[in-house]
Amino acid sequence: MIQISPDTIADRFMRYVRIDTQSDPNSNAHPTTEKQKDLSKLLLKELYGMGITNASTDEYGYVYATIPSNSDKKNIPTICFCAHVDTAPDCSGYNVKPIHHRYYDGSDIVLPDDTTQVLSVSKSPYLKEHIGHGVITASGLTLLGADDKSGVAAIMEAAMYLMQYPNVKHGDIKILFTPDEEVGKGTAKADMQKLGAAFGYTLDGGEAGSLEDETFSADGATITINGVITHPGYAKDKLVNALKIAGAVLDALPKNEWSPETTEKMQGFVHPVAVNGIAEKATIQFIVRDFDDAQLQQHHNRLKAIAEAVVAKFPGATLEYKAQEQYRNMKNVLSNYPHVAGYAAEAIQRAGLTVKKESIRGGTDGSRFSYMGMPCPNIFTGMQNIHSKLEWIGTKDMAKAAETIVHLAMIWEERS
Ligand SMILES: [Zn+2]
Repeated sequence: MIQISPDTIADRFMRYVRIDTQSDPNSNAHPTTEKQKDLSKLLLKELYGMGITNASTDEYGYVYATIPSNSDKKNIPTICFCAHVDTAPDCSGYNVKPIHHRYYDGSDIVLPDDTTQVLSVSKSPYLKEHIGHGVITASGLTLLGADDKSGVAAIMEAAMYLMQYPNVKHGDIKILFTPDEEVGKGTAKADMQKLGAAFGYTLDGGEAGSLEDETFSADGATITINGVITHPGYAKDKLVNALKIAGAVLDALPKNEWSPETTEKMQGFVHPVAVNGIAEKATIQFIVRDFDDAQLQQHHNRLKAIAEAVVAKFPGATLEYKAQEQYRNMKNVLSNYPHVAGYAAEAIQRAGLTVKKESIRGGTDGSRFSYMGMPCPNIFTGMQNIHSKLEWIGTKDMAKAAETIVHLAMIWEERS
């Protein structure tokens, strides 16, 4: 029986969320903000404190650590547990004041620093599962940072458990903490050679028991429209305004389907995210998403056809269409290694939970890691209402995430 205390992991988590680690989408530096290293440095110190001597951090803010194998078996694959230290740019992460509601009684939680921020069972029904247990919220002015400091805390707590109980047998366990996940650069400077893990797990998911081995495949698309420009005073029958064509292209997109606001579950979409330009030349940027790569290509074809049909109505105007790959569905890789998610499902069950298999309508560091030689599904931590002032987490979920990690390490040893 592996048992990790919700109160102990809560204290650890609260220590981490007080450190501002917001990443910056407008920075080209690695890490995008230096302050992310404040948490990396603390984690390194705490790893040393546990007796994990093979640990380091680098100029980019990554933390690498190894818990050496304590098993007689020599053929156990090296596995990695990974979480990100940064918090989302969408909501302030400065001066986070976590509040531990130790015995949540089911009533509304009014956040003290902004009393218009109210967390309720009616709007967040998952709170019901935590009545009688600990719930942690922010104070009303900031996000909480459970995304993904709950993952960091779960990995650290599991690491301490493995160091304290040598009778729990495991192979080489790698720990990786990354910066800049929230701005899509979490894997940019990750040194996979140095990490040296065959398989990985990100701890960056929601409800207890959830396990995600499928993400979107994602592309960007840029439509560039060239108009025809002349002096506006003498433009009759000559000028073709690229901005107006851009507007017409947007207007020609379907209204009741094919967009983020009209799709769910396994449906893909295209989504205009930026329009830029002058009368002479305009660009529209899109994101294009689907779980299926062939479907993704269909979305491009359809979008291009719609844009071309519009531009054809404006003689003299021309169009360029450019697709950019962003990331690919991790399932394409993970389906070759079904035991990786399979062991995770078993670990979740051993921790006493029901497995909820889910598909992520987005990407994770794990999608990119899966294509960098480390197949990497995503495991729950319990985080809720992420990227908002109403972000919260139940302490028993975090403890279960840490227990799941310990079970996973044991299962890999048993099966090798
Ligand atoms: Zn996250």
